[in-house]
Amino acid sequence: MNQEREPRSSLRELLKPGNFSVNAAPRLRRFRLLQWLALCAAVIWVVVGLNLSHQFIHHQLHEKLQARMDELNNESQFSLRIFDQNLHQAEQLSQTLSFEQSTVNLLHKYRELNLDLNAMELEERRIAIPKIPGREELDSLYKQLATNVDATQIILLDPLGYLIASSRSGDNGAYLGVRYHTREYYQEALIRGKGRQFAIGKQIPVASFYFSTAIKANGELLGIIVIRLVTEEVVDFINPTMDLTLVSSSNGVVLASSDPALVYKHVGRGLSRPPLIIDYQRIFKQQEMASVPFEEIYSQHGNRLWSWQGERHILARGYVEEGDFQVFLFDNVSTLFTSSNTYWNFSFATLLAGLLIIILLERSVNFSQQRKAHLTALFEANRNLSSVSSELYELTVTDALTGLSSRRYFTQRLEDAVQREHRQTPAMPRSSVQFKGLSLLLLDLDRFKLINDTYGHPAGDEAIRSMAKICQEQVRPYDTVGRMGGEEFAILLTDVTIQESKEVAARILHNCETTTIEYEKHQFTQTCSIGIARLCRDQTANGLLSQADKALYAAKNQGRNRFIFF
Ligand code: GH3
Ligand code: MG
Ligand code: MG
Repeated sequence: MNQEREPRSSLRELLKPGNFSVNAAPRLRRFRLLQWLALCAAVIWVVVGLNLSHQFIHHQLHEKLQARMDELNNESQFSLRIFDQNLHQAEQLSQTLSFEQSTVNLLHKYRELNLDLNAMELEERRIAIPKIPGREELDSLYKQLATNVDATQIILLDPLGYLIASSRSGDNGAYLGVRYHTREYYQEALIRGKGRQFAIGKQIPVASFYFSTAIKANGELLGIIVIRLVTEEVVDFINPTMDLTLVSSSNGVVLASSDPALVYKHVGRGLSRPPLIIDYQRIFKQQEMASVPFEEIYSQHGNRLWSWQGERHILARGYVEEGDFQVFLFDNVSTLFTSSNTYWNFSFATLLAGLLIIILLERSVNFSQQRKAHLTALFEANRNLSSVSSELYELTVTDALTGLSSRRYFTQRLEDAVQREHRQTPAMPRSSVQFKGLSLLLLDLDRFKLINDTYGHPAGDEAIRSMAKICQEQVRPYDTVGRMGGEEFAILLTDVTIQESKEVAARILHNCETTTIEYEKHQFTQTCSIGIARLCRDQTANGLLSQADKALYAAKNQGRNRFIFF
């Protein structure tokens, strides 16, 4: 039973893995909050960003569309005015010419001639009419006038509607003698004194505006002067750079356009009520009434958009109340939508960059927090470790049962003391009785086995504790007492004479012998044997120990309860 009792439970406690493991997990749990915050920030950023972008881009687009719309409206009003002015000028010209002297004179002469054109065939009329005196001069005059005032043609009709003079009769005599009595402008001049009509030419099928004024003398009709304007010549305001410009009749049939393919097509029910097909066929000499191929895409905040050749357009319409024509201007606004897309791209890029920043921030804060948590955990583990190691140190240097130095620690102290002693130069010879040197006492309880057997192991422990206490009390505070194992002790005395060490041994023997040990109901005494060795020159700690051991052995042999000086 030569074993030392170890404080197993406290050792186990000390060496628990929890004392050394680095566990940052509990602290990291609260960083979930950071991730939630980052997620919320990201969601808010995206939602608010998209919303603001949408509002901004929408507003921008709307503003720009509105500005373009206003511009286009102005332009359409301007075009309308030019167009109207041209027509008005032609109307004025026809009225002015109705008072023109040579015209009136010719008509008087023509009346006096009393030609019965009704009774003649066209060929006969074409022979008869050129013979009217002064007629050719009138043709030239009209020709001159027409070029000066930008009229396509100036025509003079007799009261029955036969053409007797024209600004163009010189180029092509075919007009002479043709009867225009079915034309609205003739009828209106007959009834109201003046007339206005849009029609396709009889001889040459070109769309024209006709303005007629009756020439009268004493209330009697002498003839009718007609000004003809070919539509295409009036629409010189049509800007070929403008996406699409249309001039239509009041009922939406295109008369002129920047895209010639659209002429005589209808602008569509969405823009104008179409004419009766019968009227359409009569006026425009066309069979089928096709529609202009554009359609309304959508109308948004008052901005109506039209699709034309796959592009988005806005439309402005100019017309006068009760007027006989309308002007339509289309403007391509696709680029506005493209720039909107650019804004969207920019906005998406910004949103994405923001998201990246949020993620990076979250990552970097997360990283530094984790680092901090790990460092703290590491610091804590380190602190545990150092306290555990200092406790472990305590455990290794002290004997758990008696609180004396452990064997290992005592041996170390002994070695240190031996070396120190050797380093010092003795002040007197070691053989002198006054020499103060190093003594080692080795103690062993006598017949200790018997105590164990008689009173039990715990009582034996009590006896060991009692012996430890006696040893401790009989030495100076700076002397070292160690338990070398079982019931064996060692005492290191420094700076003592041989006599003094013997006295210490004697005191211990005496105290041991006279001290009664009480354990539970048992009372007993014990004795011990002591071997004393004195450090000689160049002796090692082991050498000294073995000498003391030999002395102890001798003490045992000589009957125990004594000390032997080696
Ligand atoms: P001797 O006089 O020759 O020394 O006889 P002894 O009985 O003391 O002989 P021995 O050294 O062989 O016996 C020592 C006994 O001490 C053996 C062991 O059971 C007992 N022992 C050793 N350590 C302890 C301990 O810590 N507590 C107790 N109670 N007994 C111990
Ligand atoms: Mg022993
Ligand atoms: Mg013994």
